[in-house]
Formats: sequence, C-alpha cells, structure tokens
Amino acid sequence: MAGDVCSLARAELESRIKACGEPAYRAGQVFDWIYKKLAFSWDEMSSLPKALREKLALEIPFPVLTEKDVRVSEDGTRKFLFGLFDGQLIETVFIPTKKRATLCISSQAGCKYGCRFCASGIGGFKRNLSTGEIIAQVLWAMKKCGDEGEVTHIVFMGVGEPFDNYDNVMQAVRLLNAPEAFQIAARRITISTCGIVDGIRRMAGEGLQIELSVSLHASNDAQRQELMPVNRKYPLADLMAACRAYAQKTNRQVTFEYILIKDVTCTDLAARELQHLLKGWLCKINLIAYNPVGEFSYQTPSRDEISRFKDTLEKKGLITTWRTPRGKDIAAACGQLRNSL
Ligand code: SF4
Repeated sequence: MAGDVCSLARAELESRIKACGEPAYRAGQVFDWIYKKLAFSWDEMSSLPKALREKLALEIPFPVLTEKDVRVSEDGTRKFLFGLFDGQLIETVFIPTKKRATLCISSQAGCKYGCRFCASGIGGFKRNLSTGEIIAQVLWAMKKCGDEGEVTHIVFMGVGEPFDNYDNVMQAVRLLNAPEAFQIAARRITISTCGIVDGIRRMAGEGLQIELSVSLHASNDAQRQELMPVNRKYPLADLMAACRAYAQKTNRQVTFEYILIKDVTCTDLAARELQHLLKGWLCKINLIAYNPVGEFSYQTPSRDEISRFKDTLEKKGLITTWRTPRGKDIAAACGQLRNSL
C-alpha cells in the first residue's frame, strides 16, 4: 500500500504529520515506536494521545500483513506465508545460525522472470510491494523471532526480482540501514538479482556498500537462456561487465549463486567456463544443490558429485562455498510454501 507509515523516511513522515496539523517531533516518537519498540499498529503507541493515534491511523495506515501460515523446520528455520491487503501472498524466511540470523524477504508478489527452477515464477507476476510491505516483513520477524536471535542480516531473495521494483526496494534498504530506523549495516544487506544489468549499474551509484548476489546458475549463454529466460535480454558478457564494475566501484565481493543440477550444470565443461567468467576478480561462487520443485524434472547431484565439482573449481582458482540446504522439510526454497497451499 503506497504511502503507508512503514514506507516513509523520517523526513517524509515529518511532512505527513505536519500536514495533519501536528508538530514534527511526533515523527521521532513514531519512528522510535516502530523501529526500536517494534510497534505494528497505532494502538500500541501508548505515549501518543489516543485522538492523535486514531487520526494518524486513518491518514497514514500501517501496511496490511496477515500471517496465513508459519512452518518451523527441525533446523530452526521459520517460513512465514503472509497475505497482503489485496489478497496477494508473499513469503519470508527466518534462518537462525549460531552466529547470525538472516531474514530472507520478498520484494514483489509473484515474479515475471520465470526461471525454470523456481516455484515463484510459476504463477506469474502480480505486483510490486510497497516499501512498507517490505519493511513490515522485517518488523514481523523481529517481533516473532526475537527469542531465536536478533535479525542481523537481510537478503532480498524471497519472491520477486528486487531490481524490478527498484525505487521501493532502495527506500527499504535506506530504512533498514538508517540510524533512526533499523540500523543494519549495508554490508549485511544483500540484494539478489536474476541478472538485471541496469539495476546493478544503478545500484553501483547509490554510494552504499550493499552486497550483490547474482543468480548465475549456468556457465554459458545457451544453457543459461534455457534455465533463465532473462538471459536473452541481459547475456553473460553484459552481466559480467556490470558485476565487475560493481565490485570495482564498491570494493565488495560479488557472489554468484549457482544451482547444481545433475548432468546439467556440474560438468567439467561448466567448470572451465566458470573459470573463464569468474577468475581474477573480486567474486565468489556459492554452490546450491538443486531443491526439486514438483513441476520440473531436474535431479539433484549426489554429495560426492558436488564435492568433486567444488574441488575442481577451487583448483581452478575460484573462491567457492557450498551452502547447506536449510528448511528442506518445510519447503523453504523460493516460492514453495505458497505453491504447496
Ligand atoms: S529465481 Fe527470482 S527472478 Fe527467477 S523466477 Fe524466481 S523469484 Fe523470479
């Protein structure tokens, strides 16, 4: 919902409050209630007069975020399914580990990019989320999961392509980062893209050290095009040029997510092609074993096959990590909870 209270920067809230005939300092109180005390309704703000709360609730409402389902995995991962004001559904995943707690948030309802391995693309694109609907996912998780550990990292890896909703996502990043709001360091915020070159170039100019993660998933254009139709518009050469420029400008290591599909993406040829694309600059490759999505016939490689592929990449001089799958028992892969209901 555009214009909701969680969509507004502090200065914008001040002007909205002044337009309601109230003093600007109220904006500071409201920010404290939302971002420090995690209030999720005007009713909770007990230090504000009741009449003012009622007025502001009408003028500047909270975004609607209704918990429809929550599943808790054996490993502590919690996956929320939320309903929005117009009935759209989005997912948010809380992933606690010993040292950190990461929250994976959605930026759109549905997605237009149709990556073949992803459940989120199946139903097509519905709409962009407002900044407030993005922020509300963080607020909710901080409220509900606080006993499991403070949210330390945010990844835009839920439903949607963040660069397709650039302005609202960047406003959310600034609120996540702002000292008067959540105060999460930019280096702890990751934007994950399917490879929207214009978005990468634009974000390089933001002056923020946001982590960039790119869904690569294939080592040549022909194969990537099959898995990710977006590759037609933004082929690998253009994508790599934009990513290198991002690394140079921000001095941040770019992460390439790479799904391992048996006999498709973890072959010797793929290792050589990856070396050609990624060797010698500030980047790393994160291997993810394919998490089967009902509709598709791809297979997951064995642990041995994955280990061998990882060794091969490391011998070729690539920094390589292998992500342990989280929340497999609760369908934590992109879009899977929504589609299983
Ligand atoms: S992987 Fe991301 S960009 Fe691709 S279809 Fe899924 S949500 Fe959309």
